[in-house]
Amino acid sequence: MDADTIKTAVRMFLEGIGEDPDRPGLVDTPDRVARMCEEIFAGIGVDAAQVVRVIPMPDHDEIVLVKNIPFYSLCEHHLLPFFGVAHVAYLPAGNRMCGISKLARVIDIHAKRPQVQENLTTAVADDLMRALDPRGVMAVIEAEHLCMTMRGAKVPGSKTVTSVVRGIFRENPTTRNEALRLIGAKPE
Ligand SMILES: [Zn+2]
Repeated sequence: MDADTIKTAVRMFLEGIGEDPDRPGLVDTPDRVARMCEEIFAGIGVDAAQVVRVIPMPDHDEIVLVKNIPFYSLCEHHLLPFFGVAHVAYLPAGNRMCGISKLARVIDIHAKRPQVQENLTTAVADDLMRALDPRGVMAVIEAEHLCMTMRGAKVPGSKTVTSVVRGIFRENPTTRNEALRLIGAKPE
């Protein structure tokens, strides 16, 4: 990440909106923003599938679901936050499983990039398919978008829900509905 470019850009941005970047409250802002970017965009260029280490376990033919994983991301259209919870389920194949904390880690890596919610959901599901080669994956994300609540349509409290199903969750309605029931969503 190029901190100097970010600092220059933030200074110009402040001038652009009619602010005085040299006033006491703002003078350190470009530096703060540059340091913040290191953290909130830490997922750029990271291959999330690489952090999922496969742990061989005795045949486990049941759904593994981690729900209500909190995340914070930024929409790539407005650079405003969208945030909420993710639910991730997979059905292992053979004995290929992973530590459940890795599911949250995959969400976290992908969340730390500018993007749209649809792509976040797809990327998480596809990375888990790639990393675990499971029988199937389901990713559901519920989020509030500040670009919809503090500007534009101004619909506070509205939630956007996206879901991506792969493998058996796509092919088999019973398996899909079981996962939806565990998540707490209404089955189809
Ligand atoms: Zn937006």
